[in-house]
Amino acid sequence: MAIRDLLRVAAGTDLAGIDPASTPGLPREARGDRKLWARQRVAEVGAELAGLQDRLFAAAKVGGDRRRVLLVLQAMDGGGKDGTVKNVIGQLNPQGVRVVGFGVPTDQERRHHFLWRIRRALPLAGYVGVFNRSHYEDVLVPRVLDTLKPELIHRRYGQIREFECGLANDGCTVVKVMLHISPDEQLDRLLKRLDDPAKTWKYNPSDVDARNLWQQYQEAYQAALTATSTVETPWYVVPADRKWYRDWAVANLLHEVLVELDPQYPQPDLDIAHEKARLLGKAS
Ligand code: ATP
Ligand code: MG
Repeated sequence: MAIRDLLRVAAGTDLAGIDPASTPGLPREARGDRKLWARQRVAEVGAELAGLQDRLFAAAKVGGDRRRVLLVLQAMDGGGKDGTVKNVIGQLNPQGVRVVGFGVPTDQERRHHFLWRIRRALPLAGYVGVFNRSHYEDVLVPRVLDTLKPELIHRRYGQIREFECGLANDGCTVVKVMLHISPDEQLDRLLKRLDDPAKTWKYNPSDVDARNLWQQYQEAYQAALTATSTVETPWYVVPADRKWYRDWAVANLLHEVLVELDPQYPQPDLDIAHEKARLLGKAS
């Protein structure tokens, strides 16, 4: 079964019913050292992804194909967005990748519509774009902190649906992934950030405030995912307590999407025999 079908958010999806330590779709052959198996598969799928990406890029550069892919990553702190970018997206050619992270809006960003900074960060034709956090922060945070009236948050859901549907119709395949971790796993990861000098820079004291609102955030995710998982731009929930499964699942999600797009190398209108002769100095 396609990994997309296993992880897609549908009408009845209950986030609380998804075990963050589960490994949906992991094949039987992965028995034994599953971590090692997954790492090897991610490398193999990564090589195929790079080949597909090369075609997508070439088709846009020369062939006029406007298609592009946007991976939207959302998670609680320590959910593994950075690791996913490193391990999965890191296998692509950086020339055709654009990764953009979204933090607390700046004063300038606040003066604009919440989708303003998002539109400016969209991938160009042929690119694979990655949003490390996204416009979904603008419906999650205000709901949890109660800084926007519920009807205005609902209006934003509608604006997001319309915006993303427009992208899909314009050749931008939006792949929305929530990396779903458990509070125990988060605690583990945040403690590691404090213990490991190479990770301490990632620790943000405000992460504890968000952690203390865990249930509220889960409810906000549930509401946002349900309201914005559409046929054109569905959400996928990736159980992410196990990093190796997370990487395997996201790599396969992207692989399925790119295989379906089936980008083709352009066949430029060239007289190849004549060009060869010119290169060899046998024609002008
Ligand atoms: P990690 O998951 O590794 O901790 P991170 O994504 O939290 O990384 P940071 O730069 O530490 O990266 O945090 C970004 C912060 O910006 C998050 O707390 C997020 O909730 C916040 N943020 C992003 N967009 C918005 C928004 N539109 N409104 C309010 N807060 C936002
Ligand atoms: Mg953080």
